[in-house]
Amino acid sequence: MSGDPPRRQGVVVLGSTGSIGANTLDVIAAFPERFNVVALAAGRNRELLDRQIAKFRPQYVALRDGNGYSTTCCNVDGPNALVTLATLPDADIVVIATTGHAAIAPTLAALEAGKIVALANKESIVAAGALVMEAARRHPGNLRPVDSEHSAIWQCLGTVGERPSGLRRIILTASGGPFRGKTRQELAQVSANEALKHPTWVMGAKITIDSATLMNKGLELIEAAWLFDMPADAIDVVVHPQSIVHSLVEYDDGSVLAQLGPHDMRLPIQYALTWPQRIAGPANRLDFSQLGSLEFLTIDSDTFPAVQIAREALRHGSTFPTVYSTADEVAVEAYLAGSIGFLDICDVVTATLDAHQPHRETLTLDAIDAADTWARRYAHSTVQTIARNR
Ligand code: MG
Repeated sequence: MSGDPPRRQGVVVLGSTGSIGANTLDVIAAFPERFNVVALAAGRNRELLDRQIAKFRPQYVALRDGNGYSTTCCNVDGPNALVTLATLPDADIVVIATTGHAAIAPTLAALEAGKIVALANKESIVAAGALVMEAARRHPGNLRPVDSEHSAIWQCLGTVGERPSGLRRIILTASGGPFRGKTRQELAQVSANEALKHPTWVMGAKITIDSATLMNKGLELIEAAWLFDMPADAIDVVVHPQSIVHSLVEYDDGSVLAQLGPHDMRLPIQYALTWPQRIAGPANRLDFSQLGSLEFLTIDSDTFPAVQIAREALRHGSTFPTVYSTADEVAVEAYLAGSIGFLDICDVVTATLDAHQPHRETLTLDAIDAADTWARRYAHSTVQTIARNR
């Protein structure tokens, strides 16, 4: 066999026209000898999808159409399109870059089918962490976090799915968002346009608002707890406005390891695609002569309660993390539509968590779906009440 070129790995990108999806294709384009694109699925950006099809010539394509997907070159049916694409026989790697709870089923299906899953969607692991990790443990090495913080922790620890011995705590870094230093009074007035201007990262609208409220960091805290098998109290969050240190781990002896890198998602994406190999790729590099100082600050939890709320949801377990994530989805949508104010986002999440009756038995996908449906309805009615009283 020596001398034969290695077989190219087939990659499926779910959410190909979003920021992570587009960056993934940028990485893939840099390694035509390693990867070929088997399938693309996109939400609504038909124009960009058409350009991606012309460039990467995938065998299968799906574009969201109402609640389902319409597919152009295979007989994949509506609501199951993502699961079908995530389990294609030609797929070796599935990049899950769609937003929201719709990613849960394809993530689980891909892991169960033995695919490598490069996971950028956090809702699936927040809402269905127990199920995702159970499926992941059957195929060690296959679940690979793409989120920059979790990639950093993975790079520091060298493993996903188990708590390494001697690990004392995980320290997630947060940029602090565009409103760091503002008071609650000031935040009550901020518009969606202001919130959509993230200081260091360019991302989709949902995650940008989540970064401004720190709900994103709350989701990441829950995500880290599942990925690295750590209790809620062993995960700290520190504000690091420069977003150069992507996260840190502290061992029992006091040693702290960190991963540093530029603000360039192509780096964690590439690591997930090529692990355990490190190869030169398209990502930018750090220039230490331009870096200046790196700051680390504590969160102002009175003004930004989202991480505390997440920690509580994680402590209570069961379907509470699902409700945290779903209520946030509803609240962010309402905020973007101008129906509620910035501070109302956390209030909607808290009210929904307070009213939630958790699933009492072993968590199943059905129980998670039921909690999701309930939380969506409850959060909507809370939004309407707030909107009426404004
Ligand atoms: Mg992140």
